[in-house]
Amino acid sequence: MSGTLLDKIKRTASLPSPPGMALQILQLCQSQDVSLGQLADTLAADPALSLRLLKYANSALVGANKKITNVRDAVLLLGMRSVRLMALSFSLVSTDDAKACRGFDYERFWAHSLGCAVSARHLAVRNRPLSPEEAFAAGLLSHIGKLVFAVGMPKDYPAVLQAAGGTLGRTEKEESAYLGNSHHELGADLLAEWGIPDRLSDAVRYQRTPEKVDGDPSLRALAAVVATATDLADLLCEAAPDVVLSSRRQKLLASPLFHGEDDLAKSLETLQREFRELAAILSVSDGCKRSLAEIQAEAGNVLTELSLAAQLQTEAIAKENEGLQKKAWTDGLTGIANRAAFDDRLGLAWNESCRKQCPIGLIIMDIDHFKKFNDAYGHLTGDAVLKRVAACLGPCIRSVDLVARYGGEEFAVILPNADRMTVAHISVKIRKAVEECVVEKDGQTHRVTISVGAALLTRAGKPFTAKMLIEAADKQLYCSKEKGRNCCSMKQIQAGSVQPGLIPV
Ligand code: GH3
Ligand code: MG
Ligand code: MG
Repeated sequence: MSGTLLDKIKRTASLPSPPGMALQILQLCQSQDVSLGQLADTLAADPALSLRLLKYANSALVGANKKITNVRDAVLLLGMRSVRLMALSFSLVSTDDAKACRGFDYERFWAHSLGCAVSARHLAVRNRPLSPEEAFAAGLLSHIGKLVFAVGMPKDYPAVLQAAGGTLGRTEKEESAYLGNSHHELGADLLAEWGIPDRLSDAVRYQRTPEKVDGDPSLRALAAVVATATDLADLLCEAAPDVVLSSRRQKLLASPLFHGEDDLAKSLETLQREFRELAAILSVSDGCKRSLAEIQAEAGNVLTELSLAAQLQTEAIAKENEGLQKKAWTDGLTGIANRAAFDDRLGLAWNESCRKQCPIGLIIMDIDHFKKFNDAYGHLTGDAVLKRVAACLGPCIRSVDLVARYGGEEFAVILPNADRMTVAHISVKIRKAVEECVVEKDGQTHRVTISVGAALLTRAGKPFTAKMLIEAADKQLYCSKEKGRNCCSMKQIQAGSVQPGLIPV
């Protein structure tokens, strides 16, 4: 079936093709009796490739104890098989593709592919007897099908990219639905067509379905390594919104490949170093705007990490997490979690609180007199204010809390396992932060205030529901508006008591 799509694309467009040097290396891979000298001479004929190989052989990734100054020594040091795979990989990076597909970022694509390659190599080193160089090549080529779509179907692919989070999004479902095949299948078909060894194309084909690999545990392991490498590369390249990256991290933590937070953090540090080193060797922009520590700190603000970490042990949540990546969870204007993310996360946090019999808090807030503000300064200035207010909220909450855009000019914070003081403290902090925040637009400065309503349920579970928690917080918001705006109101619902008092904060 996938052959048909590749054939169809071939009839209408020119496919990305391996450069001459890659073809020569492939031929060398296929013949059994190539000598070290022949391989070294072939590689040395391409000065750019030789330079890349030498830089690689002398890099911290290889850790050689003497300086390697020629390709022959590099082949001796690394072994023929490894050199062939690395040379093949290096000669494929930055294939000069026609840049005609709207929304497809070629530079980001190659940077991410490199991230996959480095990560797959790292995982293979931890998972011997998998070959690190083979894993590197499989990682590098794991998403090449996207390139086929971008080059071969430049009119149809942008819609898929838009629906699935852009160049680095998890596009496979939409590709299958709209275009007939996923890039995993299409990429594997292309690699088979290029004559790349079957193990590599199969690892690409089965990266999300390693269980479909029959009777070859090593290939199954390679395919699984490619999938995990993509999760790691997403973190290295900031491939998704923070809320999604945070869920990727949780998934990695739940995988048997990592032994807890420290182990994952160490691996990510090593990977970032290796990734940057290789990006420099291969002249690929690493595209990293923030350090990993910054990404992780920010990601921590947008997901209820604690409850997720506990629940992710179960398969159901792992699946749920997959779904999370697919949904558009980010508010387009403000960049924080949107209403869908809020609803999902509240459901999760609520269930978790019921299970653990612990408290749960909710804050809902609404910008004061925002209609008048829009009328006075225009919607664009209003939008700038919404963005700025949203940005104020993250620093006010704990890492386990989730802040979301609840509606037009309303925001909400879910506070799992919070006590009364915490909810009160965060409510006040938010109100003050918004009051102090200055928005500059078109040479003018603007300020707004926000009214805050909070509810805290001391123990989640029957007879209360998450909806009742929302209603309670909403009622408190109304109280704050009644009291004159720019203030906070809070209600603590004592489990067992139906008539809790109003606690002003
Ligand atoms: P109150 O203090 O009682 O909340 O007064 P308000 O004017 O803020 O309340 P109301 O709910 O009547 O108005 C909300 C306004 O928020 C109406 C709408 O123009 C504005 N709004 C909602 N979503 C957006 C948006 O995405 N961008 C902009 N600029 N304005 C928005
Ligand atoms: Mg409103
Ligand atoms: Mg309002």
